[in-house]
Formats: sequence, C-alpha cells, structure tokens
Amino acid sequence: MQNCDCLIIGAGPAGGAAAYHLAKRGHNVVVLEKSVWPRTRPCGGGISPAVSEWFDFDFTPAISTTVNEVVFTWQQGDRVQANLTTEPMWMVKRDVFDAFLLEQAIAAGAQVQTETEVQTLQFSDCTWQVQTNQGDFSAPYLIAADGVNGVARQQLGFNPLQITLAATAHLSGVPANPSQAAFDFGIVKNGFIWQFPQADGAMLNAAIIKGKAKEADLVKWLRNYANQPDLVVQVVAIALWSGQQDLHSQNAVLAGDAAGLADPLLAEGTRPALLSGVKAAEAVAAALAGNEEAIAQYSQVMQAVWGDDMAWAQRLAGIFYQFPKIGYKVGVKQPVAVKLLSQILCGQLKYSAIIDRATAAVKKKILPFGGG
Ligand SMILES: Cc1cc2nc3c(=O)[nH]c(=O)nc-3n(C[C@H](O)[C@H](O)[C@H](O)COP(=O)(O)OP(=O)(O)OC[C@H]3O[C@@H](n4cnc5c(N)ncnc54)[C@H](O)[C@@H]3O)c2cc1C
Repeated sequence: MQNCDCLIIGAGPAGGAAAYHLAKRGHNVVVLEKSVWPRTRPCGGGISPAVSEWFDFDFTPAISTTVNEVVFTWQQGDRVQANLTTEPMWMVKRDVFDAFLLEQAIAAGAQVQTETEVQTLQFSDCTWQVQTNQGDFSAPYLIAADGVNGVARQQLGFNPLQITLAATAHLSGVPANPSQAAFDFGIVKNGFIWQFPQADGAMLNAAIIKGKAKEADLVKWLRNYANQPDLVVQVVAIALWSGQQDLHSQNAVLAGDAAGLADPLLAEGTRPALLSGVKAAEAVAAALAGNEEAIAQYSQVMQAVWGDDMAWAQRLAGIFYQFPKIGYKVGVKQPVAVKLLSQILCGQLKYSAIIDRATAAVKKKILPFGGG
C-alpha cells in the first residue's frame, strides 16, 4: 500500500492544477489516472487566458493558436463580428495542454500513476483507502477530479450529476482564419454550435443547454453545419452547473467536471476545472496544516468564486434558450452584447456585471435624471 498526503483521482485540468499546487507547497501527492498518457479528451479546446493568473509558469508551449476575433451567426446567417478587446483567447489541443500541466506538477514533485483505474474508495481511521487495478493507495485527503463519468462522486455519497450532451469533431486543414472563433445559434435546438481554430484545423462542437436531444440529432447538426455528411462526430456527456451544492465530504473534495461546474450558458468547463483544482489544493494544504474547517470551507469558496456568477449564467440561459431567436436579435446581435460576451469568454467580465449594466441602463431609461 502506497501512502501519501493527498490522493488525486484524474489527471485532467482539475487534477493537474491540484497536483501542481499541492506539490509546490511540498506535499506528497499522488495522481491516479486510468488512461494511457497522454490521453485525448473530447473538447473544443478554448481556454480563457485569465487562468494564467493562477499559475507561476508560462503556458505558451501548450497553446496551439490564439483567437482575437469572434463571429456570431443565427443558422449560419445574420452574422455579427467583433474583435476581442481583451487578451486573445487560447486554443489548445487537450492532450498537449493536459500533459503540459501534468509535467509541471511532476517537476514540482507530484507522483503520477497512469493506467491506474480507481475502483473503490473507503474512509476509515481518518484515512482514505483507494483500491485500483494497480494496487492500493492511502492518504488522509482525497481530491476527486475524475470527470463527468468518474466513480468517485457516487462513492463519496453525492447526488448524480445533471448531465446533458455535447458533441465534437475535428475539421482537418488549416482554417481560413486561424484567429477567429465562431458561434452559431438556431441550428442546435436549445443549444449552440461553436468552432474553435487550431494550428492544423479546427474543433467543431455542439452542446444542448436546456432540455433533451438525441445523439443522432447532434451528429446531424454538426455534419450539416460543416457540410460534411461523413464527418466523424463524438458525442459525450457534459455536466453544466445546476445550482449551489456542497462539494466536500469527510476529508474529500470534488473538483472540475466531477463537481459539475461548467458554465450553464456557454459550456466553458476548463477554467472552472483549473480554478477548482487550485482551490482544492489550497483547502487540502490548509487542512494538512491543521485547519479543521478548511475542507468544509472549500464548498463556500467555490460558491463565492464561481457558483454565484454561474447562478446568473443559469438565469440568462433560462431566458435565452427559451426564446433563442429573440435572444439572438435583441441580445447577441447588439454590438455591446458581442463585446460583453467576448469579455466573458476571456474571463475578464462576470455575468453579474452584465446584469448590473442592464439594470443601470433600465434605471437610466426610467429615471433619466439618474435618480435611484
Ligand atoms: C464536446 C465538448 C466540448 C467542450 N469544449 C470546451 C471548450 O471549448 N472550452 C472549455 O472551457 N470547456 C469545454 N468543454 C468542457 C471541458 O472539456 C471540461 O469541463 C474539462 O475537461 C473538465 O476537466 P476535468 O479535469 O474536470 O475532467 P477531465 O478532463 O475529463 O479529466 C478527468 C480525468 O479523470 C480520469 N478518470 C476518470 N475515471 C477515473 C478512474 N476511475 N480512475 C482514474 N482516473 C479516472 C479520466 O481518464 C480523465 O483523464 C467541452 C466539453 C465537451 C464534452
């Protein structure tokens, strides 16, 4: 049995970020990852550059290309385009990005066991005993970062994730405009399509945000959008943030997709995965230093730094996806909205700020002399 300070299940962005920050603090941490590494991960690969604030190394080697222009369409027409006034958005290949992050964690002192699938978890005598196909591991603390289909969430006693469907396909060939991202509304019922460039092609993605859809419909919508009847499309689950919940149990926390953190309006999941990995590491480090409240406080911290804003995203999604055509016309198509959405995608604006601005605009209309 191998013993350490903290076991991390899953080596995606959430697990990699947690491993890096715990190892950097000098803790003995072991990452258990079931895949042959590096593994591919179905994903659009768009990441807000704001994540760089949480790390003290340069992510440049892991970035395939960057985007400084965004195009929105309604059923591939009624186009509106905006230049990002923010730092360019990163486009990554997830096998490269995740492997790069994990390399930084290893360099900081983390141990990584790939091809090691966690099977069961048990807590006794203040210790987590974790059974895998490669033997047993134990630690006083556990970070469950095993993604949307992981085993840890259920075994830790949490409710099942609320799952919706997303799809992705790789378009080969150098994109016509490698610094442009495209979003389309109206083709996908209750969802949207987004196309993110990469140095050698593009990732074409679709997500259902509200309601249900069949896998076959997602495949059909992406093929129609790309005008490629034989396009190879992968359909996978995605867990959008669905309300405030505890993300901790006895000496254990959930991070990333296992915690159901993806943005319920735009399906952005990598930034919250990284953020929760950072915050999970802070909580475990504090607990190891003797703070008995630290693990429970993690749930509150995540609600404050992410959940509160996702509650606004959820409200906006509820309105937008109920009447998407009107939402596109009166919302997305407005030049100011395009700018605000771009700032959100780049992590430079919170949804709550949009609500504040809209409220201020309404007040100004009702009370033209600025009363309030
Ligand atoms: C089609 C699609 C497109 C997307 N596009 C974007 C996008 O453009 N931008 C964005 O920000 N987000 C996007 N997302 C969301 C994003 O991919 C996820 O939110 C993000 O990968 C979550 O990271 P994670 O570390 O929590 O989980 P993951 O990256 O899924 O990592 C979990 C890891 O745990 C491992 N694991 C699972 N079970 C076990 C086990 N039993 N034992 C050991 N290891 C285990 C897995 O092998 C995996 O490596 C997209 C999602 C989908 C489905």
